[in-house]
Amino acid sequence: MASTTAIPDLDRLRPAGTKRSSKRDLIVNVFLKQEGHLSADDLVVLIKREDERISRATVYRTLQWMEEAGIARKVDFGEGRFRFEHSYRHPRHFHLICKTCKRSYEFLSSDIESLVEEVAAARAFTANQSVVQIYGTCESCSTGRAPEEPSNSELLFARDALRIAIATERSGMEFYGRGVKLVKDPRAREIFRKLATEEVHHLKTLEARYDELLKQDPLLESRPTFLFFKGAANGLFAAGTDQLRRDGVDDLEAYRIGIRCERGSHRFFKRYGARFEDSEGKQVFLEFAEEEREHLELLIREYRALVKRQRTPGHKALVAPKRPKAVRAKARSRTASR
Ligand SMILES: [Zn+2]
Ligand SMILES: [Zn+2]
Repeated sequence: MASTTAIPDLDRLRPAGTKRSSKRDLIVNVFLKQEGHLSADDLVVLIKREDERISRATVYRTLQWMEEAGIARKVDFGEGRFRFEHSYRHPRHFHLICKTCKRSYEFLSSDIESLVEEVAAARAFTANQSVVQIYGTCESCSTGRAPEEPSNSELLFARDALRIAIATERSGMEFYGRGVKLVKDPRAREIFRKLATEEVHHLKTLEARYDELLKQDPLLESRPTFLFFKGAANGLFAAGTDQLRRDGVDDLEAYRIGIRCERGSHRFFKRYGARFEDSEGKQVFLEFAEEEREHLELLIREYRALVKRQRTPGHKALVAPKRPKAVRAKARSRTASR
């Protein structure tokens, strides 16, 4: 995985007809190594340290160029001047801004984003950018504890994306494990077992990737949460597992519940992943979305095949006969005690 200090292909970004300038390359390199939010003057100071012949005007011009080229993003913290952060492999995010020490902390929240989308849709508003800034006092300023060192948001994003994907895999595994015990059709049982096994493999791959990521920063596990994630795909499969426990769930219903879970999961990871700038976290989401799509398609195919088989004359064993209430209740208490 490339780290945030990896340099984008400047030749590709350079406007046609302009020549490569070593001054500009130097400014871009210095800028991309910064994790925080710099004012133009902060950058001038850093550049002067490297090469004092580079003028303030050149730094300003280059910043403007970087913004147009999509390497830098302008952020307004309400201080009467803009700050800049690099956007190369750096997902869009929200900010917590300390009024005392002026430090800013980055975070993302899928729940805030979906709320914004909901509001915009309800008002038929086409939103193309939302800015969330929370002003107040940071932990360090209110407790006197040492401030957290700035961390690489790409790594944090990848860490959190992996954690979410791992949690989803785990609940998917439970869902299919539960399904194996429930379905009666031998073919359906085989499919649920296959999917449960696949989730175990995916889980192992994701966990290996997570361990790889931790090697890049020994403190990564203990750093604060970057991606807040409550709603959306979270708990999708857990809810599905609960539905499987309900009374009267036959094989077709089990497939339908699985289809709903996989579809929801696929949509979430795809839509959420598509929004981000190129990064490890984006990759995790998009690859995961792809796996969920394969599962979804398999389930839909198998669901249709089962419907067909059940319609075939003489194929009666697959439709569970309606049992009297008392028997069903007994069956339920058996399941519950398992
Ligand atoms: Zn502070
Ligand atoms: Zn930021």
